[in-house]
Amino acid sequence: MPGFEFFSDLERQEVHDVLSTGVLMRYGFDAMRNGHWKAKELEQELENRLHVKHAQLVASGTAAVSVSLAVAGIGAGDEVIMPTFTFVASFEAVMMLGAVPVLVDIDDTLTLDPAAVEKAITLKTKAIMPVHMCGSMANLEALQGICNTHNLLLIEDACQAIGATYNGKALGTIGDVGCFSFDFVKTITCGEGGAVVTNNSAYATHADHYSDHGHDHVGTDRGAEGHPFLGYNFRISELNAAVGLAQVKRLPEFIAIQKAHYTILREALSQIPEITFRAVPEGGEESYAFLSFFLPDLNLARYASKALKEAGVDGCFHYYDNNWHYIRKWEHLKDLKTLYPVSAEVKDGLKYLQTKTFEQSDHYIGRNLSCLIKLSWTEAEVKARAASMVATINAVIAAR
Ligand SMILES: *Cc1c(COP(=O)(O)O)cnc(C)c1O
Repeated sequence: MPGFEFFSDLERQEVHDVLSTGVLMRYGFDAMRNGHWKAKELEQELENRLHVKHAQLVASGTAAVSVSLAVAGIGAGDEVIMPTFTFVASFEAVMMLGAVPVLVDIDDTLTLDPAAVEKAITLKTKAIMPVHMCGSMANLEALQGICNTHNLLLIEDACQAIGATYNGKALGTIGDVGCFSFDFVKTITCGEGGAVVTNNSAYATHADHYSDHGHDHVGTDRGAEGHPFLGYNFRISELNAAVGLAQVKRLPEFIAIQKAHYTILREALSQIPEITFRAVPEGGEESYAFLSFFLPDLNLARYASKALKEAGVDGCFHYYDNNWHYIRKWEHLKDLKTLYPVSAEVKDGLKYLQTKTFEQSDHYIGRNLSCLIKLSWTEAEVKARAASMVATINAVIAAR
């Protein structure tokens, strides 16, 4: 998945364009910038490649999630339904607005279980936010149906799934708003960066203003711009956007390499009858950033994870025991450890975490291993890795 593996002269040239003028800012300084508008160009590329009307670059994927919710009017006390398996950023971004993350179970897609979502809906629910983890997706048709029935917004956290599609459409462009991350370990990187995408022009205007202090971007004198509403600074710099501009042009190449490596590994692991693979909803095509599969039980998954590390097979994550991606280890959230007082709405809204258990999520995450697909492997390396994985997992199963 990581685009940083392929940092090349293409990236260096784009960055050099920016350094040659010294205009590191995405807005203004028209006379000085010698025609270089890297952030604008990257937004245009994203719109063209993802077939979406509007893309707004921001400083990070976390900012993209906050901006997505803000532009749709989600704030204090509003409930956002999201999965127990995600990156901590997804709930941080919700809480930054004073909204309440309502965590619900995942299913064998490793993303939101539509039945669990339906049960969690209350009068305060404003949005459903699937997180398309590890290059694949939630059942968007089912979730869209629930949103239509209950008049809710669908916000896609597609930070880990650029390049994946559902019924031929790019993930992130199917809901009301979508979010991408271009941090250093994502499929394409800006170093740090993110994007909000939408086909809704009002949301697009909100995102443009909100991510730059509410400036309306009318005219050429920034100091004279109006402020139709309050905003923050979530801007990306031209240097970061320049790196992303080179990377986005290589996205099809990255996805093709991921698919080739994934296919070799998957075919090898398919020989092990005890292994089942993550479900991909009908009409879905993964980005192949990870190969995710299930072992028969938690203990076997733990042993396999340990044995793979010992065999030198790096990048296979057992998220059940991981601090970043699964609810089991989020004591800081459950105990609401903050540096500052939080609103009564958030305090009350998160009380459920003191008692709620997630057996269904444990059932899937406990047995899951997700293995990162690297771009830089040679075919021989992938084949050797496949053989090593099969031998290691077979040995763990035999020793049961
Ligand atoms: C990486 C990531 C984010 C946050 O992106 P940053 O650019 O690191 O802030 C949000 N959600 C998910 C699912 C992610 O993987």
